[in-house]
Amino acid sequence: MLLYRDGRCLVCGRLLTLRAMHAHHIQSVGSGGEDCLENLIALCAPHHDAAHRGSVILDGKRYLLTPGVLRALIGGEADEEEREIARELRRRYAPDE
Ligand SMILES: [Zn+2]
Ligand SMILES: [Zn+2]
Repeated sequence: MLLYRDGRCLVCGRLLTLRAMHAHHIQSVGSGGEDCLENLIALCAPHHDAAHRGSVILDGKRYLLTPGVLRALIGGEADEEEREIARELRRRYAPDE
């Protein structure tokens, strides 16, 4: 399901096979997040690690990967700053968007 929806790492755009895909809970289940598609994001292994660290560095620039930014990456609710970070990340792998 998640692979069908996303198909790529939502941070770097790398195409993912089912085996390479990490499903990350945007809000951890331990802190009240639900185990549902709206709370899951597909990531490659390095960016799954990055999501748990809270940020990622791409071409020398640090991008925060807060739950809000991750939600913005899958088109969910986020504030303006988080949406802007998500747009920047997206621009990196979808320049025609
Ligand atoms: Zn990635
Ligand atoms: Zn995770």
